[in-house]
Amino acid sequence: MKTIDDIDVNNQRVLLRADLNAPMKSDATGQMQITDDGRLKASVATINDLRKKNAKVIILAHLGRPKGERKPELSLKPISKRLSELLNSEIHFIEDIHAENATQVVNNLKPGEIAMIENIRFEKDETSKDISDRQRLAKLLASFGDFFVIDGFGVVHREQASVTDIARVLPKAVGRLVQAEQKAFDKVLNNPQRPYVVVLGGSKVSDKLGVINNLINKVDKILIGGGMAFTFLKAQGYEVGDSLLEIDRLDEVKQLMKTAKEKNVELVLPIDIVVSKQLDGSAPVSVVLANEIPVGLKGLDIGPKTSELFASKINDAKTVVWNGPMGVFEVNAFASGTKTVAQALAQSSAYSVVGGGDSAAAIRSLGIDESKFDHISTGGGASLELLEGKILPGLAVLEEV
Ligand code: ADP
Ligand code: MG
Repeated sequence: MKTIDDIDVNNQRVLLRADLNAPMKSDATGQMQITDDGRLKASVATINDLRKKNAKVIILAHLGRPKGERKPELSLKPISKRLSELLNSEIHFIEDIHAENATQVVNNLKPGEIAMIENIRFEKDETSKDISDRQRLAKLLASFGDFFVIDGFGVVHREQASVTDIARVLPKAVGRLVQAEQKAFDKVLNNPQRPYVVVLGGSKVSDKLGVINNLINKVDKILIGGGMAFTFLKAQGYEVGDSLLEIDRLDEVKQLMKTAKEKNVELVLPIDIVVSKQLDGSAPVSVVLANEIPVGLKGLDIGPKTSELFASKINDAKTVVWNGPMGVFEVNAFASGTKTVAQALAQSSAYSVVGGGDSAAAIRSLGIDESKFDHISTGGGASLELLEGKILPGLAVLEEV
């Protein structure tokens, strides 16, 4: 796999697939505003390195799911404006790749200059299931570049025109961000130091079964919190009140608990739970033992004893992977389990990798220093698929010659 140091981009046009899919909301005047520019900041290194090498950089990216329609609220213009501030450089914006002036803008770029193509998912062919549609778009895109660089880790699990198909047309290389993501996941998947602890949470156990099935062969301990813990507690024979429960996954979960025993993997479930009638914090909140969740109440966070227990296991670890919040961290009353776990991880000397969009958002929104983690992944779906042991098409294509 080539990096940008292995290709000669001097005075060449480089099409860079970045992931600039930042969360947005509309302000009082109806303008779209970025609420978290983490993915933009994470894209700066590759762009600047390409400019230092005298490349002409043409950025390809998407925003949201416009499904082939030109939706003004999903325009990349506000993204381009913010990115140009971060780069301290002008970005020439290409509204329509089919228009004649698109070629002009690209041809007029000088070494070190940047252009950005409007939301590539405005093109129906980008996400088409029909490979010939995607190849048609990839061919058009390739006419704007001499090289293709993939740096959008958030899309490498997708078979899409601007991800995989274009990589089969142009000489290709991997950018700094994808390199960093690969390095971190390679370490935790193939070369971890022990004890190795994985902390899992989030809402749905069904989203995470694939991750457990894969990591159960590699880790020493699995700590389970969040909404997914209740299907485990139920499997253990406890009643879980109105907590999240995926009853159709009960057998799978029971099987996993058996496998964990056979493989000598310590499966740690919550011992106490924060419960309430309401998810929004408007009803009284209390702490109960995990086997005494009252009928009619929901478990919305791990309790303080569980938080302490999880923190101590993290403290003893040399490698920790964390995916999924421990509770409904968006609501203050149910944020403390997630906060304790995140802080324990920030303070530990273990090699720490955080995957999952909401887990990364939780770290930022709870005000925990991001630099204290070894790696916070920018790709939710892509990081989950890597942890499941899957091969990602956007990375596999880089190995093709
Ligand atoms: P990630 O994006 O990090 O992989 P998920 O998407 O799996 O995480 O889950 C995040 C969501 O899980 C959050 O919105 C959080 O509110 C919710 N959640 C966590 N614990 C619970 C719980 N006990 N009950 C309901 N929802 C929960
Ligand atoms: Mg999520």
